[in-house]
Amino acid sequence: MTWHRLTICVALLATGCANEQPAEDDRAGRSLSSTSPTSVAPRSDTPSSTAPSSAELPSSVPTNMARPAELAPKQFTDDDFRRRVEELRTKLLDSGFEEDRFHIMVVRPFVVIGDERPEVVERRAERTIQWAVTRLKQDFFRRDPTAIVDIWLFKNKESYERNTQKLFGRQPHTPFGYYSPRDEALVMNISTGGGTLVHEIVHPFVAADFPNCPAWLNEGLGSLFEQCGQRDERIVGYTNWRLRGLQRAIRDSKLPTFKTLCLTSTDAFYHADPGTNYAQARYLCYYLQEKDLLRKYYQQFREAHRQDPAGFAILQEVLGEADMPVFQSRWERWVLELRFPG
Ligand SMILES: [Zn+2]
Repeated sequence: MTWHRLTICVALLATGCANEQPAEDDRAGRSLSSTSPTSVAPRSDTPSSTAPSSAELPSSVPTNMARPAELAPKQFTDDDFRRRVEELRTKLLDSGFEEDRFHIMVVRPFVVIGDERPEVVERRAERTIQWAVTRLKQDFFRRDPTAIVDIWLFKNKESYERNTQKLFGRQPHTPFGYYSPRDEALVMNISTGGGTLVHEIVHPFVAADFPNCPAWLNEGLGSLFEQCGQRDERIVGYTNWRLRGLQRAIRDSKLPTFKTLCLTSTDAFYHADPGTNYAQARYLCYYLQEKDLLRKYYQQFREAHRQDPAGFAILQEVLGEADMPVFQSRWERWVLELRFPG
C-alpha cells in the first residue's frame, strides 16, 4: 500500500534529467506498490515504503517562465475541459488507438487519461490526484496551473515507454514519470506507485502560484510529498528513501550550508548537484513541516521573493534563528535521529 516516489521536472524542453540512483532498498517498495491495487491511496498515519524518485528534471530555464504574477490566470470553464477531453479523444483516435483503450476523466485542474481498467483509473483519480490537489490547494497554492494539464497514467513500463514515444515523440528520461511543461502533461508509469505522481503534481502548481520559486524549494516541496499521508486533514510528508544518503553526507561533513543551498541557481541545482540537493531541500521542508512552519515559510517567501529571491533571509526569520550555522548543526543532529522506515 503505498506509494510514493517521485520524479520531477521542470524544463522547457521536456527531457534531460539528472538521474538519481535509487536506494537499494527501494526496489521492494517499488514492486510492492506496483502490485498493490491500493497503492494509490495515501496513507493516513504511518510512513510507507517507497521508491525513489529517479529523474529529476533539470532545466536550463527557470520554472519561473510562466506568466507574470500580476496577470490573473485564466479560469477554465466546464466547456474548456470538455473541449480538452474531445481533443484528447481525437488525438488518440488519430494516433491509432481503439476508442475504449483509454479512460478519460476530468479532475480539475487536470484531465486524467489512463489505460488501466476504468474503475482503477477512477480510483487513482480520486484517491491520489483529487486527494492531493485538495490538500495542496488548501495549504499552499492559491492558483491553478495556467493551462489544463493532462495526466497520463500508463499501466506499466511497456505502455509507458511505447506510448510516450507514440504520443510525444520521445522516450521518457525516467522510469517513473515526469512533468513536461512543453506538452502541458504529466506522464507517468503508474505501476511504479503514486509517489512520483504527487511529486509531479506539485510542479505545475508551483509554476502558477509562485513563478519565481527557486528550484531548491520547488523540489523540496515536490519531494516532500512524494511520500505522504494526512494528519489533521492536512497533507504531510513522511520520511523516505532520501534520508539515508542525507544522513551519510551529514556524517561525512559533506553537506553544503543552507545558505549555499538557497543560493544555488536552478541550473546548478539540477546540473551541479553534489548528490544531496533534493534530500537537503526535502528534509529542510520536512523540518519546517514538523515545526508547523512550512506553510508560513512558503507564503511569506512567495509574497516577499523580490526582496529575498533565494529565500534565505526569510528562512532565518521564520525559523527565528540568530545564527544559521548553529541552526544547521542542530538540524543535522535532528536529521540523524530520523528513521526510514519509521
Ligand atoms: Zn520535482
